[in-house]
Amino acid sequence: MKRTAGHLADGREIIYFDTDPVAARTAEDTRDLPPQAPASEVRRDPLTGEWVAIAAHRQTRTYKPPAELCPLCPSTPGRPTEIPESDYDVVVFENQFPSFAQGVPGEPSTVEGMPMVPSAPARGRCEVVCFTADHNSSFAALSPERARTVVDVWADRTAEIGAAPGVEQVFCFENRGEEIGVTLHHPHGQIYGYPFVTPKTERMLRTAEEYRARHGGHVLGDVLAAERADGRRVVVESEHWTAFVPAAARWPVEVHVVPHRQVPDIPALTDAERDDFAVTYLDVLRRLDGLYERPLPYIAAWHQAPVRTGRDLSWLHLQVFSIRRSADKLKYLAGSESGMAVWVNDVTPEQIADRLRR
Ligand SMILES: [Zn+2]
Repeated sequence: MKRTAGHLADGREIIYFDTDPVAARTAEDTRDLPPQAPASEVRRDPLTGEWVAIAAHRQTRTYKPPAELCPLCPSTPGRPTEIPESDYDVVVFENQFPSFAQGVPGEPSTVEGMPMVPSAPARGRCEVVCFTADHNSSFAALSPERARTVVDVWADRTAEIGAAPGVEQVFCFENRGEEIGVTLHHPHGQIYGYPFVTPKTERMLRTAEEYRARHGGHVLGDVLAAERADGRRVVVESEHWTAFVPAAARWPVEVHVVPHRQVPDIPALTDAERDDFAVTYLDVLRRLDGLYERPLPYIAAWHQAPVRTGRDLSWLHLQVFSIRRSADKLKYLAGSESGMAVWVNDVTPEQIADRLRR
């Protein structure tokens, strides 16, 4: 894979990843953009101890532009986009409206008049990953070769962003579908480099530690073995990965794609595991789109180890889930879910696994 890094007109970094070893990526960004001045901050909720990012400048971001004004399509003569080249395989660039960025000024402090509320510049990184130059495609429609390139891009970005000053955790994800709140239809995902370990990951590390103290093994390793032995919730099984509906699924559609070997993050996957993931994941996505005979809105979230802590307690996995609970109904996060973080799921995991296996 050929990797070509450059900069956009406002100084943001852009990186092309090409399978063609001689792809020349020399096009200049001709737009007249003001220099980037991200100004978001993080504040810690004094009651829960969880960090919240305050990024008011994101209010002005691009909202559902018509296809002919898509900023993620390649540039054409007279219509420059975020990607200066006239074509690309996979391209990554810094988000124009980042929740986290390296250049945020300021020092850690507390909110004025609130000494119990720590605040800090939201220093981290937010990137956009375009999976294909084809506006009307989707991840599920990619070739296995292209999906494999995306895995390599996730690995590259996880390693590089994880090495940036202050970044504690790297999160690769995809929001797909208007129902999820996607503002750009072009097939793309995002990568966040957070300046803290996320609450979800902290919780999972604590649970894995307690489980290890009591039972000796890794909780996800034991879950994986039990799911494979039982089989009722398994959707797809390959040499290196198993995709299953978790026994305590929160969402009406939820699948976990788990490697058979304990690895902390995507960079730790072997070539064989990456190849196999590409094929397995495409199979899972096509089954998801087949559920209601229309593209399923979903969130795909990679759970990776933090950069500096809990790496031996982490077991990489991908969680894919949807808010669609029937052909014409969506699940909303209402009182119990939003107020108390207690999910009520009105589909059984076994039923949904049955339907996904067909
Ligand atoms: Zn597009």
